[in-house]
Amino acid sequence: MPIDSMSIARAIEHYRQVTSSYHARLIAVSKTHPAALVQEAYNLGQRVFGENKVQELVGKYEELPKDIEWHLIGHLQKNKVKYIAAFVAMIHSIDSLELLQEVNKQAAKVGRVIPCLLQVHIADEATKFGFDAQELEEIVKSGVLSQLAHVKVVGLMGMATFTDDKAKVAQEFASLKTLFENMKKSSKDGNVSMEELSMGMSGDYEIALEHGSTLIRIGTAIFGNR
Ligand SMILES: *Cc1c(COP(=O)(O)O)cnc(C)c1O
Repeated sequence: MPIDSMSIARAIEHYRQVTSSYHARLIAVSKTHPAALVQEAYNLGQRVFGENKVQELVGKYEELPKDIEWHLIGHLQKNKVKYIAAFVAMIHSIDSLELLQEVNKQAAKVGRVIPCLLQVHIADEATKFGFDAQELEEIVKSGVLSQLAHVKVVGLMGMATFTDDKAKVAQEFASLKTLFENMKKSSKDGNVSMEELSMGMSGDYEIALEHGSTLIRIGTAIFGNR
């Protein structure tokens, strides 16, 4: 399917309308696509973009307008945090306490507080990263987060199983929403504030929005196949 400016414009307009009716936000996932395509979306007013690889994120950050809000949505290795700490708007893929501690360290060096989401493993697939519900509860209860002054845990992120079974996807998103609400009630650390629930991609964003998503991450449906 050839992707042209018209189809990008139509897609962005569509997602802008659905997200606004749910009080959610659109993250345009530009991974593997050239900076020129990001620029087209930017010219249409889109300012929030998601990337899953550090090197690609840094390259696009350097090349593109500086008022873009860059979200790191893919698995992050600890030794690469230093390359993005100065500019990344949000990290969705915190999947270990050690990673969060490294983000805190690198954010301190550049004098920032970086908004982060804890990634939760909700899918069947063993390949998807993230905490399970019990690990999350333990971390929040332990009080360790309050020692990390340069990160702010602002919510949770999850990826549903890749399947046509809508009931299964709905059940996974519902379980993440429940966890989110429970943590909202129980977290007393000053730097934890459950505001964002990042769930939903091109194939399942409607189900995600119905289950309380505040950030949908849409790639293919805007920029075409990778
Ligand atoms: C690639 C990616 C997306 C976007 O997926 P599409 O199906 O292309 O919309 C969303 N979230 C994460 C974590 C991704 O890696």
